[in-house]
Amino acid sequence: AVEFRRVSKSFGPHQVIKQVNLSVSSGEVIAVCGPSGSGKSTLIRLINHLETLSEGEIFINQQPTSRLNGAALRQLRTHIGFVFQQFNLYSHLTAQDNVSLALIKVHGWKREDARKKAQTLLERVGLKDRALHYPEQLSGGQQQRVAIARALVTDPSIILFDEPTSALDPEMIGEVLLVMRELAQSGITMIVVTHEMSFARGIADRVVFMDGGEILEEAEPEAFFTRPAHPRAQRFLQKVL
Ligand code: ATP
Ligand code: MG
Repeated sequence: AVEFRRVSKSFGPHQVIKQVNLSVSSGEVIAVCGPSGSGKSTLIRLINHLETLSEGEIFINQQPTSRLNGAALRQLRTHIGFVFQQFNLYSHLTAQDNVSLALIKVHGWKREDARKKAQTLLERVGLKDRALHYPEQLSGGQQQRVAIARALVTDPSIILFDEPTSALDPEMIGEVLLVMRELAQSGITMIVVTHEMSFARGIADRVVFMDGGEILEEAEPEAFFTRPAHPRAQRFLQKVL
């Protein structure tokens, strides 16, 4: 579970997250949408401390996290997977080694055991036969599925996605969404920044609409897409649908 309590974030004088309250229960799947610059990436980067908050508190499984550092922060991050728009795979490592790296370097696993675990995860994302391929030998959709496997390697209870399909050719979006759909059904908590309205509508339990650093609307997908309440959400949907 993830809870934001009156969270604000400023870059210099510029407040980009404004007093946000948000409660995500365990196993819930949230789609975060909103215009460019509205603070979506910043919001999810605060959760695993890729950014530090300026005010308020974020609770992960009821524990306050803003003061964590060192070993406690590393421990927190093992509970939270992150998938980026640009995959961020190591180009000199095979798919298998990209996935297993954290287990070996951070958690002290034996290479053999870590590779076995990586293989299991690669199978789960449909890449059984690609374990020994390097990123440049994989399509964008395959690379993103390796990145998803990598995010799952520490058995996180929460996984964050920042526009995971935005860098993909249209024909590869489906294969990534399929993996995400299966993940959503597995009981993991998911917070997904996405412009992919089919994900928001078909897979998410709840849609969170942001603009100007604030959450302007939170609703079940059906309600959000058929009768958005906030005028800015209405305008946004007119543009994207
Ligand atoms: P997009 O849809 O384009 O990815 P977003 O909703 O993810 O946009 P953010 O990236 O969270 O938006 O940015 C929110 C605001 O914070 C923007 O005005 C952005 O310029 C600003 N911002 C983000 N990161 C930084 C930073 N490291 N330093 C200064 N300003 C930043
Ligand atoms: Mg963003």
